[in-house]
Amino acid sequence: MIIIWGTYHLMKNNPRVHNDTCPHCGAFSRLESHEATHFFHLYYIPLIPLGKKRIESKCSRCNKYMTMSYKDWVKVKAAGESFIAENAQVAFQDPANAIAYHEMVDRFKGLPAAREVAQIMRTEFAEQPEVLAYLGNWFRSVGLRNEAVPYFDRVIELDPTHTLANRFKGHTYLNQKDLVNAALQFARMETPDTVLDFQVLLKLAIDLNKANYPEESYKLMVYMLDKFPAAAKNSQVKSTIKSVEKKLGIQESALGAW
Ligand SMILES: [Zn+2]
Repeated sequence: MIIIWGTYHLMKNNPRVHNDTCPHCGAFSRLESHEATHFFHLYYIPLIPLGKKRIESKCSRCNKYMTMSYKDWVKVKAAGESFIAENAQVAFQDPANAIAYHEMVDRFKGLPAAREVAQIMRTEFAEQPEVLAYLGNWFRSVGLRNEAVPYFDRVIELDPTHTLANRFKGHTYLNQKDLVNAALQFARMETPDTVLDFQVLLKLAIDLNKANYPEESYKLMVYMLDKFPAAAKNSQVKSTIKSVEKKLGIQESALGAW
């Protein structure tokens, strides 16, 4: 007979969920933080509580996480709460303070309180694309994509080539299977990211070509070559460009310049 025993974490309190880049594996995933009680178990029946812990950023992909002792977590939380109390009056005086304040409210006061602070900031910093982009990204990361929309729309009004805002809108079009508008939106990103954007853009260019939008595919590929010069060596990039150029009757290949 095999006796199954060991330890596990049970009883999750004060959970906080964010969709973001995992600090362990680097993938974009669901990250959960919560308080947990550590148990010794026999056949998965919790027998002996071994103490509480704080689990931080447990990744839904790689399952890795960070832990903090409960004692330390209580100290960190108390410090966070006193920061919030002390800064409530001055938080909205400048963008950096407001963002730091919002981060603390999100971490220690929970989502409804963070949402209220976000609404105040939206009015106070209506002309500041970086604050609005931070807030839009926060709404996105907590899974409230619809609420992120007006923030990113305003960012694009203020700064048409804003990378984060155009990436968000591009993905919104992609989710709606609107490839053409997705491509137009993505190609406005000032500084696309090799990790976050390259594969998405390449797949989109290939799909546009397959869906018989060679012109849109070509424009997106030219944008990619401009932003990622090393892409000219990528075999999928090369074959897609050659295919669209053939369809469009382009003699001088965009690859030639590289
Ligand atoms: Zn991970």
